[in-house]
Amino acid sequence: MHKFYEDQYLTEINTTITGAFTENDQNCVQVADNIFYPRGGGQKGDKGTFVINGSNYNVTDTLKDPYNEDGIIIITTEKIPEDVKGQKVLCKLNWEFRNRQMKLHTAAHLHHCLLEKTAGKSLPFPKVSDIQDGFVFNRYESDEITLELVEKTNEVFREAISSGADVKTYPDTEKKGFRWWECLGYKIPCGGTHVKNISEIGIVEIEYNKKKGMPTINIKLK
Ligand SMILES: [Zn+2]
Repeated sequence: MHKFYEDQYLTEINTTITGAFTENDQNCVQVADNIFYPRGGGQKGDKGTFVINGSNYNVTDTLKDPYNEDGIIIITTEKIPEDVKGQKVLCKLNWEFRNRQMKLHTAAHLHHCLLEKTAGKSLPFPKVSDIQDGFVFNRYESDEITLELVEKTNEVFREAISSGADVKTYPDTEKKGFRWWECLGYKIPCGGTHVKNISEIGIVEIEYNKKKGMPTINIKLK
């Protein structure tokens, strides 16, 4: 079960190990109930700790299982013995890392929606929206994203964050595995992790540049 969708603020869970194996020189673990978000959709994979029989194992990354669409693979630094299948494990999320991902990722959605609001029309989605160390960026392949539009939007963006607004996320009623993000009347298809209210994003620094003719907006958290 993907527990990170039920509660994106869940930082610990007791569950059982369903598999442990080595692939591409990486120690891979699978669990029954999982709170670690896998890499993808513009977010990095979660980190944290496994506690098994009193021993700590460092979780360095989380990935989607390429062979099973519902599967998730959790990467640990130290090898977990292969006979642990069925054993109890306490999973602890690196909350500081995840919470930052949630804030940055939500900020990227919100900034795009407010660009549309400021422009007064729908705009193409960013060609790339991704998190780097310490900031998130939206890179567009559209000349409509001008410095003037971005500067106007930045004011609206800061005001929206300080006023606050709820973020709703929910599964699509028909398409399995497909989810929606909704805030301030805007909807974006996304299966990522997000903050519950945009006020949690806090103070932001925004930078505009053009790389290879592509307007890019970088958002940093204070
Ligand atoms: Zn998202």
